[in-house]
Amino acid sequence: MVVLASSGFAADEAVVVVNHRGEDAAPGFRFEQVPGPRRQDAAAKATFTLVDGRADANGAGLEALHDGLLPTEEDQPSANFFFRAGSRGGRIGVDLGAAIEVGAVNTYSWHPGGRGPQVYTLYGSAGTNAGFVAAPARPADPSTNGWVRLARVDTRTAAAMMGGQYGVSIAGRGGALGVFRHLLFDIEPTDAADPFGHTFYSEIDVVAPNAPPEPAAEAVAGEAGPHRRTIRPEGGYEIVLDTSEAPDLTEWAERKLVPMIEEWYPKLVAMLPSEGYTAPQRVTINIRKDMQGVAATSGTRINCAANWMRRELNREAVGSVLHELVHVVQQYGRARRTNPSATRPPGWLVEGIPDYIRWFLYEPESRGAEISARNLERARYDASYRVSANFLNWVVNHYDKDLVRKLNAAIREGKYSESLWKDYTGHTVEELGEKWKAELVAKAGGS
Ligand SMILES: [Zn+2]
Repeated sequence: MVVLASSGFAADEAVVVVNHRGEDAAPGFRFEQVPGPRRQDAAAKATFTLVDGRADANGAGLEALHDGLLPTEEDQPSANFFFRAGSRGGRIGVDLGAAIEVGAVNTYSWHPGGRGPQVYTLYGSAGTNAGFVAAPARPADPSTNGWVRLARVDTRTAAAMMGGQYGVSIAGRGGALGVFRHLLFDIEPTDAADPFGHTFYSEIDVVAPNAPPEPAAEAVAGEAGPHRRTIRPEGGYEIVLDTSEAPDLTEWAERKLVPMIEEWYPKLVAMLPSEGYTAPQRVTINIRKDMQGVAATSGTRINCAANWMRRELNREAVGSVLHELVHVVQQYGRARRTNPSATRPPGWLVEGIPDYIRWFLYEPESRGAEISARNLERARYDASYRVSANFLNWVVNHYDKDLVRKLNAAIREGKYSESLWKDYTGHTVEELGEKWKAELVAKAGGS
């Protein structure tokens, strides 16, 4: 039935189907048309080689592409293969061991930002013709080296929101894509100007024509274990806490961090509502062994520096995670992704609101946002972090109990402007700043 051309047989034309899941992406890559990743397929036993380019040291090796294991979260470098930051991508060769009839090649990727979409050209070859080059590095053109160009894939769209899960299925129009022993992926960055514009590839499947359905591969990379557990606060939230890079902190985290998260994540969500907004249901917290600084949040992922935490276990460590959880609930990037005329979130409030909640509602007894007489001179309402937290607390107590809820909603919706202060309190923010400072000075016994 199948004609084995010297350079592989390719069906008339490949059909490329792309499915995308954005903010609703859950582990497992479940799409409408593109079938989910398989555990047993021709790629599982194949040999993957890096024909061109370098893998990023923060990612997994090529093994991750055909181990049947999937990432459990949207930004999990260790469960994905991606090319080195700053590079121009590269080529991945797949040797199936023998020429076989291929029904479809399916590729899966997942990342919250520009590293989600897939951009590549797929080539195939039976590998039997004279002049066949098994590993054509750039700039060699595979199609003049014994390969057939099967499809060009580009899942980027004009939409601002490119993050999420992508499933791509390249199949033959009449059932079979062709007969191949070798496949070659020529992979490009999604944004050549961004050194981090390299797609997080999670899995590549090579499926026989009319392959019977099989149970999908499991999202098991980074399985639950002694140093990775899921906290489930009321409200259906799932917060994954991973201390595997700092196992010495697991016991402390269990005793101190977990109870805070269980109690406070739903509280923070309730404190900071806005119309039509649903706070993230899945959050991950990773304690990082090599991280500098204190902690940082990107989307729904919190990273904490293990070294800093160790020094602060009985002081600021738990509160710093609460501050990051507020960032997860804020999600101030949303407005500008969908509305280009949304106002930019004011930086001093982006940090002032988490510190207000932390120092005045979560741990007022620690008095961490008091302004000492020594620092009074430099205190400004928009000095950010704890100084702005102190100011917010003052305005809340003197003018408007709902101030923070209202400010948060306005910022999240891209509607913040300084005139809101006048609406809420009858005074401009500058006037409020002066009154606040005068009171601090009076309290400190100053002139
Ligand atoms: Zn912050």
